[in-house]
Amino acid sequence: MGVSFDKADGSLWLKFDVQPKADPTSDADRAAKLKDPGFGRVFTDHMAIVRYSADKGWHSARVESRANFPLDPATAVLHYAQEIFEGLKAYRRDDGGINLFRPDANAKRFRNSADRMAMAPVPEAVFIEAVEQLVHIDHEWIPGGEGSLYIRPFMIANEVFLGVKPSAEYIFAVIASPVGSYFKGGPAPVSIWVSENYTRAAVGGTGAVKCGGNYAASLRAQAEAIERGCDQVVFLDAVEHRYIEELGGMNVFFVFDDGSLLTPPLGTILPGITRDSIIALAKEAGTPVREEAYSIDQWRADAASGKLKEAFACGTAAVISPIGKVCSAKGDFTINGGAAGEVAMGLRKKLVDIQYGRAADNHNWIKKVL
Ligand SMILES: *Cc1c(COP(=O)(O)O)cnc(C)c1O
Repeated sequence: MGVSFDKADGSLWLKFDVQPKADPTSDADRAAKLKDPGFGRVFTDHMAIVRYSADKGWHSARVESRANFPLDPATAVLHYAQEIFEGLKAYRRDDGGINLFRPDANAKRFRNSADRMAMAPVPEAVFIEAVEQLVHIDHEWIPGGEGSLYIRPFMIANEVFLGVKPSAEYIFAVIASPVGSYFKGGPAPVSIWVSENYTRAAVGGTGAVKCGGNYAASLRAQAEAIERGCDQVVFLDAVEHRYIEELGGMNVFFVFDDGSLLTPPLGTILPGITRDSIIALAKEAGTPVREEAYSIDQWRADAASGKLKEAFACGTAAVISPIGKVCSAKGDFTINGGAAGEVAMGLRKKLVDIQYGRAADNHNWIKKVL
């Protein structure tokens, strides 16, 4: 264990001390857990963890048995929510190897999130190394077929202090959770509720960074969506309450009768890596993509006139979910007869084939771990 500098980019480089779990899950127990893991309830045996203090910098990088964190009741994160996270996946290729999808983009976004939340930035090389070390030691937990390993890097303010200021200590950790085929028999279209009482993000706020606080603030609106019989909530802009922003945890796209795509512009929305990848794949195929504001009234009018053909949500966990129905206080409307659209499903297949190594990776998105 120790600290050294990576000569290639000058960034701080840590060597991870790897301590495999003394009593790992047996093959039989793991196979039972991987049968139908669902999402986010089954975890692998290990975690990667790195500590930061203002005087030592990043230190004590370890891969060890997954365990509780002892936290003093006055730990800063428990009071002021100085916390950020990421989400990415590892995929098992047909040849048995393992792919990560754009981990460099997650590392970069994590730095941006840390900056906005006044937290110590994790060097991108350390972020990627922590993810790779964990995937390596827990690779047997990656389901075959259409399953994947959801990887959750996160960072918490760990200083024991009730004063309101950026913490002087942080814990950066990575855990992983096997997920089954997210949708059995293709993704079912989702219904979404347009939130008119709650907003997610304002200019100058934290909408563009992946912090837990954004999710805490979205749960009441999500509960309202469920009360209205919908699967998900979609937020409007905080100023005019007109323009579509995004779902609680997914970006949105619209597909028009001329074949073009539209997605809300960056600013107050989370810059999704799936969003960015879809834009790149569409443009590569010659499909025009506009990043423009789109209002709920226009959406309703375009759905009625037939100008709008499809709408879909996207994010790492579900990749692409078609939107079949939109519900709001002003009435409901359906899209594409409530069915999954061809464009959404075509883009989904393209992206998933790259992730699993079944299609050419023209954008250098895949990082092979094994
Ligand atoms: C993570 C997230 C997304 C999707 O981002 P991906 O990088 O595509 O997974 C979209 N919106 C919000 C609010 C998010 O937190």
